[in-house]
Amino acid sequence: MKKIAIIGFGASSIISLYNLLKQAKSSEFSIDVFAKDDSCGYAYETNNCNHLLNVRAINISGVLDDDYDFLNYLKSNNYNFGEQDFVERRIFKEYLKDLRLRSFDIASYKNISLSLFYRNIEEISYQDNKFFIGDIKQGYDFVFLCISAKFRDNNFFNIDISKYILKPQIHIKGAGLTAFDAIISLQDLNYAGTIFLHSRSKRIPQPHNARISNSLNPIISISDAQLPLSKLFKKFVSGCRNSDNWQERFDSIRPITNDIWNQFTLEKKKRFMRHLFRIYNIHRHRSPLSVYNKIVNVLQNNRVVITNEIIKDHDFIDCTGFDFNYKDQLIDRLIANNIVKKNDLEMGVDSSKENFFIIGALNSGTLLETTAINEIKCQVRYFLKKLFS
Ligand SMILES: Cc1cc2nc3c(=O)[nH]c(=O)nc-3n(C[C@H](O)[C@H](O)[C@H](O)COP(=O)(O)OP(=O)(O)OC[C@H]3O[C@@H](n4cnc5c(N)ncnc54)[C@H](O)[C@@H]3O)c2cc1C
Repeated sequence: MKKIAIIGFGASSIISLYNLLKQAKSSEFSIDVFAKDDSCGYAYETNNCNHLLNVRAINISGVLDDDYDFLNYLKSNNYNFGEQDFVERRIFKEYLKDLRLRSFDIASYKNISLSLFYRNIEEISYQDNKFFIGDIKQGYDFVFLCISAKFRDNNFFNIDISKYILKPQIHIKGAGLTAFDAIISLQDLNYAGTIFLHSRSKRIPQPHNARISNSLNPIISISDAQLPLSKLFKKFVSGCRNSDNWQERFDSIRPITNDIWNQFTLEKKKRFMRHLFRIYNIHRHRSPLSVYNKIVNVLQNNRVVITNEIIKDHDFIDCTGFDFNYKDQLIDRLIANNIVKKNDLEMGVDSSKENFFIIGALNSGTLLETTAINEIKCQVRYFLKKLFS
């Protein structure tokens, strides 16, 4: 019987576990999950009903080949949302917890040993084709590493925002979707001062306007990856502009974005990161219209001011995303034990071992799109194919 370890118990881990168990035969595996706490990850731990998913309900099921699983969950729990709605993230957390419970049910029904240990894993080593976790004597045949990347200590998700409430001014670094979350949280606390958003481009994410459509042909093809970056960009932009709905055209490349990325040389990837990544993100990571309108409203009232002034001495809230230079004990040990290595862009890590599967944000750089539920599902599908082959 093969032994599997899953590290982390957020969305990547839950989606891996549930879909693995669905495909597994009776008694085929023994699975141990190690999580440092009971959290479902930063994204979904919010209790604020105005923090919404940025993906429509039909597009965020956690189950492979069943787009309706989340919608069915909503229906059976008396939530009144349709396919096109942007649901509260706290409800998605409940759904993830439900998938956890359903995983234990399947394991029990299929007679598969499934155990959960609350432990902060700091060491994984490798010997004789087995992975050894911490001081556990028995080795594992496969590991799913689902621990995400880390945020800075003063990131919005790591701080108590209420401690800022008496300040006449609040400075936020970044103007993306996390900054939107921060503004909404401050407003809900009736913050009366001025919020400064510091952003080099002085631009905020765009609102969602795309209908769900899987049938559009991508406006660029994988072979276009060979074009010089400027030509590729022009082709992409004109494809978006020559349409009555640029968002739909933008999204048409989503199924092949990582294939295009894989065709880029390292130099091209670096140039994309330097010159185009920000502008790509503003258009790619869009906000539900209701949230966008709230932000536009506070910008118009000058309650929020957007500036390209560089933050120097202010006590600021960081809303800039992952910190890939963050010192992580487990990653350092994995590198030292030759199980993973830093990827070429020095963002995430690549696995050096066949049976060591990395899912989610740690693939940043190796993949351009890696953190959203749909990309996590693609990775899970790929690794399950390897596991069951
Ligand atoms: C604010 C926000 C909103 C988002 N909204 C959306 C959205 O609307 N739609 C969408 O598709 N995607 C969204 N995303 C992307 C989101 O990151 C992923 O959907 C998902 O949360 C990633 O899950 P994960 O399991 O990889 O990481 P996480 O959810 O961060 O889980 C990591 C897990 O690993 C555990 N862990 C970490 N280190 C260790 C260790 N050393 N030992 C043991 N356990 C450890 C943690 O405790 C946690 O359980 C959003 C992201 C953010 C930040």
